[in-house]
Amino acid sequence: MHTAVIAFGSNLNHPEEQIKQAAQAVARLPEIHSFTLSPLYRTAPVGYLEQDDFINAVALIETDYTASELLYQLQNIEQQFGRQRSFRNAPRTLDLDIIDYACSRYDTPELQLPHPRAHERGFVVHPLAQIAPHYPIGQHGTASELAEKIGTDGITLL
Ligand code: ADP
Ligand code: MG
Repeated sequence: MHTAVIAFGSNLNHPEEQIKQAAQAVARLPEIHSFTLSPLYRTAPVGYLEQDDFINAVALIETDYTASELLYQLQNIEQQFGRQRSFRNAPRTLDLDIIDYACSRYDTPELQLPHPRAHERGFVVHPLAQIAPHYPIGQHGTASELAEKIGTDGITLL
């Protein structure tokens, strides 16, 4: 069994509902045995700014999937929720990223672990700090250390 962290994001088609339903879909996957969802946060978009705010959350899981199996399952769920891949940072009904998998490193085009930008994203470290404050993101520090460093600009607890 391995511990992993998954990030959820949505800013289309009732994002709050999308996140809640996506969380249920992930929690029901056969090889996910423990699932803890963070509170939901509302966050301003980054990169492409002409779009609605996002709703974000993270989940701490225990799983028997390998990291690539987990990615495959998450991409399947993104598809079920009608994700259209248009351009980078575009509006999306559902984005599921693996933030960390068993504190291991992975570096292929399909999967990089820990997620290379997670430690600088308030919408990842704040929710993670709520459910697992001591969880480390690579060598960058723990969730609560990073949350303090980044601050709460553009991020509000729902
Ligand atoms: P982003 O999440 O960066 O906005 P996408 O969701 O469209 O962009 O993901 C683009 C690609 O990122 C996916 O095809 C996936 O294979 C790859 N990827 C690399 N590392 C990860 C990771 N840790 N979690 C999820 N996807 C990843
Ligand atoms: Mg993604």
